[in-house]
Amino acid sequence: MNIFVMVDMEGISGICRKSQVLPGGEHYEEGRRYLTRDVNACVAGCFDGGADAVTVRDAHGGGFHLIWDELDNRADYIQGRSPRERMPAIDAYDGLILLGYHAMAGTSEAILEHTMSSIAWQNFYLNGEKAGEFAIDAGIAGDHDVPVIMTSGDDKLCAEAKELVPDIVAVETKRGLDVEGGYLLPPVRAHSAIREGASLAVSTCEAIAPYRVARPVQMRLELVSRGHVPAGRPGVTVIDGRTYSVSANTVEEALRLL
Ligand SMILES: [Zn+2]
Repeated sequence: MNIFVMVDMEGISGICRKSQVLPGGEHYEEGRRYLTRDVNACVAGCFDGGADAVTVRDAHGGGFHLIWDELDNRADYIQGRSPRERMPAIDAYDGLILLGYHAMAGTSEAILEHTMSSIAWQNFYLNGEKAGEFAIDAGIAGDHDVPVIMTSGDDKLCAEAKELVPDIVAVETKRGLDVEGGYLLPPVRAHSAIREGASLAVSTCEAIAPYRVARPVQMRLELVSRGHVPAGRPGVTVIDGRTYSVSANTVEEALRLL
């Protein structure tokens, strides 16, 4: 059993402030430590559940946030920039985990909610439905028949995930009260919930169906500010001064057109 883990930072246990996820931010170094600990709890859980190999990709902006010399030595890690697919060689894996994810842009009382860019993206729609990063990454794996088996984050992210993948193991490590605040589980409880969740997800991996996005895949993006619609770019349909859409055969191809 091979497991791919995409790890974002806003949904990591112990994180509820922008200053924890932005390099150079006042609390960034502690944010990195929390990120690394959630990753280690997840990797341990994957091996508890019967995984043979685990690959972790640091998927937060820039992809370079894990504390390398504190990582569990059993997994492989993708860090830094990569011009290739979001999940290289995903076909070779049996399940995907979206660790430390966050609710889609505009979700109320959700910790650090956004979709792809809190500065540029106002709302994002996948085949006409408002969607977030969970749906995008679950859909990319689904295009390769790989199921998303577990996620972790706040209560709003867990609800968003369960709506799309009812059988997913959704580990709630915090409960949002605001975009920058909420109830946070303390570390021992958060890490054991992640470890147990990952173990359960891997051991029941085969029972979870891939999340498949209907083709053609249409994406519509509403930008925060005017003047940035890529009019004239091949494959782009301009809807109004802040909104455009693209269409492609797979989620990843559509995403690249945005
Ligand atoms: Zn992020």
